[in-house]
Amino acid sequence: MGERVASGAAVTPLVDTFGRVHRDLRISVTDRCNFRCTYCMPEEGMQWLPKSEILTFEELERVARLMVERFGIDSIRLTGGEPTMRAHLPVLIEKLAALPADLALTTNGATLRLVAHDLKAAGLQRINVSLDTFRTDRFQAITRRDDLARVLDGIDAALEEGLNPVKLNAVVMRGVNDDEIVDFATFGREHGVQVRFIEFMPLEAGEWWTNDAVVTFDEIVQRVTDVYPADPMPHGHDPAARFAYRDGKGSFGVIASVTQAFCGSCDRVRLTADGKFRNCLFALDEYDLREPLRSGASDDVLAEIIQRAVHNKWAGHQINNVHFIRPKRTMSQIGG
Ligand code: SAM
Repeated sequence: MGERVASGAAVTPLVDTFGRVHRDLRISVTDRCNFRCTYCMPEEGMQWLPKSEILTFEELERVARLMVERFGIDSIRLTGGEPTMRAHLPVLIEKLAALPADLALTTNGATLRLVAHDLKAAGLQRINVSLDTFRTDRFQAITRRDDLARVLDGIDAALEEGLNPVKLNAVVMRGVNDDEIVDFATFGREHGVQVRFIEFMPLEAGEWWTNDAVVTFDEIVQRVTDVYPADPMPHGHDPAARFAYRDGKGSFGVIASVTQAFCGSCDRVRLTADGKFRNCLFALDEYDLREPLRSGASDDVLAEIIQRAVHNKWAGHQINNVHFIRPKRTMSQIGG
């Protein structure tokens, strides 16, 4: 059944065999990163994709346009690696901002002070900054970089530029940073940013993830609301379950990918920097779009590959199942 987009053309929603309609596209623009977070990458020895294997801006725009115009995708998020490491990123933002879809970016924030203005001017609307601690020594231990002050300043820069909302994503790991949960809530309330706590997922390079390292949704909510009473908000397709502070000072969210997987309402698909289409972060299969893009394939051919990928989407990830198999690539290579 066709809906209509601004151009007037009929759209065919991307529906999988479980009836999930896909409206959200995550595009990784680079596999490179200026951090080496212990839960994501090894300290040394990452093999970066050669430039020739990375989709060009024109190729990215073509896929994004097809997704929006043909399949009704209405939300695009740029990620990586670290997306701000992709040269001339504002040029891509300008191209994508022209599409009738919400456009957002996820960044580690280290260079935000330098780029926030250009990103906003190019048409970026909202931004998520990843930050897991407010302690300098801990920041260094987690990211293997000494950039805490820069990230905090980057958050200020995003707010000053009027990016709205500015969200702060924190991966909570037991024994690593779980004693800062309330500090995060306090920071969010004081700075007008929405904090989203993320359960630690088994996608890290060192494979040190265990179930015990996951600080659960229930625990996070309890710890925040013990100090700042809050009530659940209606839950849509956003992976974060949100809670509004009773005193009106904003809200916080929890992304419980492990203990309360939201696969049943997942509306997300992904494109890696090297042009592989993925139907899930944890999928074991990828569908190559780069070769067809570069050998002159028509939009119909690309659309058929995308529809096949969505058709083959599993009911849900298997993290809590003994049969769980990690994807071959880490979060930074897939695009977190
Ligand atoms: N460099 C950008 C950033 O820092 O936001 C974008 C890419 S990063 C891979 C995207 C998000 O994935 C970050 O918030 C990061 O903390 C999160 N992440 C990476 N590995 C993770 C894991 N094993 N479990 C949970 N979240 C993870």
